[in-house]
Amino acid sequence: MVKIIKDFIPKNNKNRPGNYMKPLYITVHNTANTDKGANALRHVNYVKKPDTATSWHFTVDDKIIYQHLPLNENGWHAGDGRGTGNMKSIGIEICENADGNFEKAVENAQWLIRQLMLDQGIPLANVVPHKRWSGKECPRKLLNRWDSFKAGIATAHTGKKATPKPPKATPVNNTPKPKTSTSKKSFNLPSGIIKVTKPLAKGAGVKALQEALAAVYFYPEKGAKNNGIDGYYGPKTANAVKRFQSMHGLVADGIYGPNTKKCIEKKLNR
Ligand SMILES: [Zn+2]
Repeated sequence: MVKIIKDFIPKNNKNRPGNYMKPLYITVHNTANTDKGANALRHVNYVKKPDTATSWHFTVDDKIIYQHLPLNENGWHAGDGRGTGNMKSIGIEICENADGNFEKAVENAQWLIRQLMLDQGIPLANVVPHKRWSGKECPRKLLNRWDSFKAGIATAHTGKKATPKPPKATPVNNTPKPKTSTSKKSFNLPSGIIKVTKPLAKGAGVKALQEALAAVYFYPEKGAKNNGIDGYYGPKTANAVKRFQSMHGLVADGIYGPNTKKCIEKKLNR
């Protein structure tokens, strides 16, 4: 039994989109933050800040679990835009702070996941690593032991019956909540080819591309200053392009060109 504290992201924050979600998957992450004190509470403070672009449902450390979003709302944690990872999965971050006990945090996460599986009727097969959605090496400390991590979920003791409940009936109103801002920003996406060069390709065109990628939730560097939008076409921007391409059936080479332009424009106009 681990204590779960609900401390939700404020409703007006941009990282609380409020789209209705029926969770079908559970996505596991590592925080990749080994600082001392980078525990679950530290992540509460981070995820509630008005300029934070990402969001997820739970952060687990070796002592406690914080919940940041209701389970019927989506977060931005899977790196797949409006794909299944972001729109239909519960995101769980496991802390790796140097002053915490990582193995205990893992156990707590396994316990939480077991609970969620039972409560939400989610099968173990649908407990997946972040990598499944976007190719990111996450959860970086569990990927090389993923099978044993999942085996630990199956045996985690919750005191509840082992047979998952059937999924709850889908509520009638499943239309996404309208965004607060309805004005559509236009992006002057550059024509031609952009790729990582030496020196780096840069300028207003690159910036417009980065802003457009961010607008469809493929940030050059989430969490960095201005989400990494700096007008330079470096490896991180190329990576965002690559993630976008692979999620949209394009050749995922990280090189921006006419096909990628067309596809981003299509997404922006939805
Ligand atoms: Zn992750």
